[in-house]
Amino acid sequence: MKIHEYQAKEIFAAGGIPVPKGQVATTPAEARAIAESIGQTVVVKAQVLVGGRGKAGGVKLARTPQEAEKLAGEILGMDIKGLKVRKVLITQAVEIASEAYVGVVIDRAIKRPVLIVSAAGGMDIEEVAKRFPEKIIKLPLDPLLEVYPFQARRLAFAVYDDPKVSKQAAEIIAKLVRVFWRNDCSLVEINPLVVTPSGEVTAVDAKVNFDDNAAFRHPEWEALRDPDADDPAELEAKSHDLSFVKLDGKIGCVVNGAGLAMATMDLVKRCGSEPANFLDIGGSSNPEKVIAAMRIILRDTSVRSVLFNIFGGITRCDDVARGIVAAVKQLKPKVPIVVRLTGTNEAEAHLILKEVGLPVEPGMEEVVKRAIELAA
Ligand code: GDP
Ligand code: MN
Repeated sequence: MKIHEYQAKEIFAAGGIPVPKGQVATTPAEARAIAESIGQTVVVKAQVLVGGRGKAGGVKLARTPQEAEKLAGEILGMDIKGLKVRKVLITQAVEIASEAYVGVVIDRAIKRPVLIVSAAGGMDIEEVAKRFPEKIIKLPLDPLLEVYPFQARRLAFAVYDDPKVSKQAAEIIAKLVRVFWRNDCSLVEINPLVVTPSGEVTAVDAKVNFDDNAAFRHPEWEALRDPDADDPAELEAKSHDLSFVKLDGKIGCVVNGAGLAMATMDLVKRCGSEPANFLDIGGSSNPEKVIAAMRIILRDTSVRSVLFNIFGGITRCDDVARGIVAAVKQLKPKVPIVVRLTGTNEAEAHLILKEVGLPVEPGMEEVVKRAIELAA
């Protein structure tokens, strides 16, 4: 789960990380009032859940409250990478002497969070990693420890020469790691971490992603959730206890179980096409769920054919077949549907499907190839 910069900055501030003073506004008039209360040059910043807002024109300096009002008017409603700006952060402008990067990300290869520090801040860190890998310093973190002060100091001294600056940076690095662990994050980032001309270190940008697997112990996250961030189809799927993932191809895939979903995606690609999505109906075989699944898949206009690939273990194939029949009758799909159902109560399932004349294939490869043919 992603949260906005202004929310991330509140979490940083609570963790003792210095951030410029600021407040969020939803109207130009509010922006002006906040700028007045700050009483100096401010930055008006689009609050959307993507990076690169600066380059997209979503971060602007305002010297007067009037200018803040005008810029807020321009930025609110702007479209940044497909996301509409509904809020702006009005924040104290900081004079920049240098910009660095500090972040904690999960490194799946070593199965640990890694602290990353780079003197090349302000730009896209993936870009830095590609072009100047030598400018990136990494420290894998021990899940039982936060970070030792000597480790934080070593990283800070690698970036800053001035001991007054590196001392502050070391504290910020240690606090950022603490914020990461204490809040069950999957990512925290300060980009840029700024040093001012007078040698103060402060977090000018803030990014925090939470690890959804820990949501059960963070009731406070609900209030931070931005409904715009979630795909409506994925939300609807979740409300039916289904998991739906939108992809770029044209084959709609209904499967049961994450493993079978992955195998089906692989096979669709190997047979020369691309999945439009996948919808995992999970372990149960409640016909209602199958109807909801079909409704969600058929709404996706890039879907040119739908394949069902169901392995009946606890899931009963006849229940799924009944769901498919009911869905076909109710929703009258205009795209072809192909089915492979195997396992528990398979024979009954095939009889049920025969009634509505849906093509049934015996194996996984056959159903995938047939769906691709029909989508052409
Ligand atoms: P992002 O583009 O979405 O990562 O947004 P940032 O918050 O990182 O802002 C983009 C860039 O705008 C920063 O790298 C800075 O160069 C600049 N910027 C942001 N805030 C300030 C500020 O307070 N003062 C100055 N001088 N520049 C700023
Ligand atoms: Mn940034």
